Amino acid sequence: MAPISKEIDFLVIGGGSGGLASARAASSKFGVKAMVIEGKRLGGTCVNVGCVPKKVTFNAAAIAETIHQAKDYGFSVQETAPFDWTTFKHKRDAYIKRLNGIYERNLANDKVEYVHGWARLLSKNEVEVTTDDGAKSVVNAKKILVAVGGNPTHGPDVPGSEYGINSDGFFDIETLPKKVALVGAGYIAVEFAGMFNALGVETHLFIRYGTFLRHFDPMIQETVTKEYERLGVHVHKHSTSVKVEKDGATNKLTYHFTEEGKDGVVSEIDHLIWAIGRTPATQGLGLENAGVKQTETGHIAVDAYQNTNVENIYALGDVTGQMELTPVAIAAGRRLATRLFGPPEFSTLKLDYNGIPSVVFSHPEVGSIGLTEPQAVEKYGRENLKIYKTAFTAMYYAMMEPDQKGPTSYKLICAGPEERVVGLHILGLGSGEMLQGFGVAVKMGATKADFDSCVAIHPTSAEELVTLK
Ligand code: FAD
Ligand code: NDP
Repeated sequence: MAPISKEIDFLVIGGGSGGLASARAASSKFGVKAMVIEGKRLGGTCVNVGCVPKKVTFNAAAIAETIHQAKDYGFSVQETAPFDWTTFKHKRDAYIKRLNGIYERNLANDKVEYVHGWARLLSKNEVEVTTDDGAKSVVNAKKILVAVGGNPTHGPDVPGSEYGINSDGFFDIETLPKKVALVGAGYIAVEFAGMFNALGVETHLFIRYGTFLRHFDPMIQETVTKEYERLGVHVHKHSTSVKVEKDGATNKLTYHFTEEGKDGVVSEIDHLIWAIGRTPATQGLGLENAGVKQTETGHIAVDAYQNTNVENIYALGDVTGQMELTPVAIAAGRRLATRLFGPPEFSTLKLDYNGIPSVVFSHPEVGSIGLTEPQAVEKYGRENLKIYKTAFTAMYYAMMEPDQKGPTSYKLICAGPEERVVGLHILGLGSGEMLQGFGVAVKMGATKADFDSCVAIHPTSAEELVTLK
């Protein structure tokens, strides 16, 4: 390994979405001497144990659904063997490995110094790096960006909790399970449960309340929860964990819980996955040595410009607990680099955290931007809102039996006399790809009249959004 520089202008801790974007922008656009320190694999959560391998698995699940639906279109597709999870998993791993290499080459092309090791702040300008061989070096940095992301939150404090795995462990599963249990009600639990179920795995989803995705508009919570039940996911509502037991001979798990106040048990589980949120990766980072303040949740406290309370230290991405999404970390990282090192006209550049679109790769997909209906009512008052809704059966399902038809629902929340679109919520086939374009319109401040002025594209589901009455 090349010797590690002792002096650097911009030192980035964490080679994930936000850190890489910021370091590369600083070096390639503004010629800044930048370094990235990464303890695990380049690309961070998204590339290694997040968005990318998740979406590839989602694609496999979508193909499984299509194969089942194909006969309704007249195809005689017969599955002669179960889904070959093991081959798929190894191909997915190889793809991720290729991406790791591409990320490393990108850093080299952009002249960013890459150090594989763990970083710890010693003071506001000094960072200690421990490399794989245990050697320690100290780097002096003018500016430091902390972009260390987070880790899955540990399972709840119940006996046998340690027998469960988390979202990182999901990507290590080598063979197609027969039965899984997931605990949690957010993006990860819902996405994983949908994929397992579509791939033919008996899937139990344990949630604390009556619906999941509770941060989303009620239309989404209610419709998707109901749809999961229709699709065959065993949704255990109003449930709490009691204990987990492991059979030493078979490695199968038994999960004890309460559901609606009554005791319940599911046994013969191959994998129990805790998906109850993520915790910022600040342990052992030496924040206290530099005097960097954290919030009550342990995230790094930042202002609108990603400044921490320490003048030359910045933070962004999941470790700040702002919106935990890859494009958010990337956008914040690029803007920060431009603000710090770009021409003076960018000295107030920052990411606008309003109107950020987000998609859940559930079954069906969910897309959401702006305010939910309850949030809009609170902000504008019910009397100042006009809400347009539609629920219909997408044409794709026209050839299918009634019990095979999935839902499509759209909602547009408009505020004020000009009916500006302040919330857009969609669920149904293709919602993930659809949302990006509508996101541009909403971000530009489109009104209902603007939506209506766009001529529909027929026959699509999306056309319903420009013809809402
Ligand atoms: P990370 O990408 O987590 O990168 C931080 C890096 O810092 C890590 O590589 C870590 O090893 C390193 N690090 C930590 N501490 C140190 C240290 N002391 N020294 C050196 N290195 C250190 N987002 C989406 O937008 N779309 C999706 O579909 C999506 N799917 C997801 C699915 C799953 C299962 C998960 C878990 C997340 C998903 N996300 C998705 C969220 C997305 O992955 C994160 O928001 C994003 O990766 C955050 O980027 P980051 O740069 O803040 O942190
Ligand atoms: P989330 O914060 O989305 O959801 C976790 C949920 O689990 C909570 O909202 C809560 O829901 C429930 N929960 C919390 N504690 C417990 C408990 N003790 N027992 C049972 N349930 C509990 O976290 P995730 O881990 O799903 O995902 C982390 C982040 O990663 C997401 O917020 C998202 O930003 C990002 N991500 C993005 C994706 C995408 O863009 N498609 C995909 C995956 C992740 P409730 O209060 O209803 O019980």
